[in-house]
Amino acid sequence: MEIPAKLKQLLHHPQNVAILSHRNPDGDAIGSSLAMRHYLEQYGHTVHVLFPSEFPEEFEVMPGADDILVWDIHTEECKHVLTKKNLFIYLDFNQLSRIDKLGDFMKNLPGERILIDHHLYPDPMADYIFSEPEASSTCELVYRFIIGMGDGQKLNPAVGECIFTGLVTDTGSFRHATNPLVYRIAADLVERGVNDTAVQDMIFNSQKEKNLRLLGHCLSNRFEYYPEFRTALIWLSKKDYEQFNIQRGDAEGIVNYLLTIKDVRLAAFIHNQPTVVKLSLRSKGDLDVQEICKKHFNGGGHKNASGAYSHDSLKATIEKFKNLLPLYKEQLLKN
Ligand code: 5GP
Ligand code: MN
Repeated sequence: MEIPAKLKQLLHHPQNVAILSHRNPDGDAIGSSLAMRHYLEQYGHTVHVLFPSEFPEEFEVMPGADDILVWDIHTEECKHVLTKKNLFIYLDFNQLSRIDKLGDFMKNLPGERILIDHHLYPDPMADYIFSEPEASSTCELVYRFIIGMGDGQKLNPAVGECIFTGLVTDTGSFRHATNPLVYRIAADLVERGVNDTAVQDMIFNSQKEKNLRLLGHCLSNRFEYYPEFRTALIWLSKKDYEQFNIQRGDAEGIVNYLLTIKDVRLAAFIHNQPTVVKLSLRSKGDLDVQEICKKHFNGGGHKNASGAYSHDSLKATIEKFKNLLPLYKEQLLKN
């Protein structure tokens, strides 16, 4: 990655930096943010990581996770910290609306901004934009940013473990969105001391009993299959949320089980969270769920993994989704 000389110079001197990532932070958001923090701290920068909302519990063991500031919980402290910063790094999101009120607050703050992201169509919201929708993950881009800075030697195990986390989560353990570089980066990080199986255990083997019971409930009672559209759906109601005591991150990954059906091309997970209806779409092959989310639900993401929020009822959102299927029938049956 080519880093402009002016930016290199800026980063070679200690700055007061805030790293921001998106609502409902996932492994790539958390991994890229903490990796960047551990990298920048080696230059003597003062760094804070801020998220709009809480992150899933399994990531709490990551180095540096314990002093992440969450706008929903530490609003005043977030404001106080942000007003002292002169450099803001936006990671893994493409519009200020993806960071909610934190984004509104950012609109009025002075300071330089860097954006590193792999979502389609980023808003021009930074002085330096590193946007590569073909990249597997923002963590891949953070790795390439560090190499581009000429700082391979700063990829210590803490930085590496955080980068590895995003590589694994955004590629579903190297199953999709991969490229040759992803494997090279993974190999390089392991050579630099990253314990790859420990990272995989943290992500995939740290579930609670209720997570498996919830999955069982989804597959037994909330799973619908429309073979004529090669589409599968799981939905969850507000009551399900209460019955299974679903917390942040507990429903993460459920949508992926639908893709394991050979003929499925489109997978949907529609769930009534306490305040909004959340839609997660996944696809195999050429079907562009980013377009579906953007056009019909005002959301976005990537070609094969996108999301959106709806203020309609759960029932209305499910109906709307089902009614769209005939429009995409040709594409669904094509590959
Ligand atoms: P998920 O379905 O796991 O929440 O999200 C899948 C992908 O779509 C992620 O890359 C996420 O950042 C993106 N995404 C999820 N919800 C939204 C949304 O409401 N708007 C936009 N623009 N992207 C979203
Ligand atoms: Mn990502």
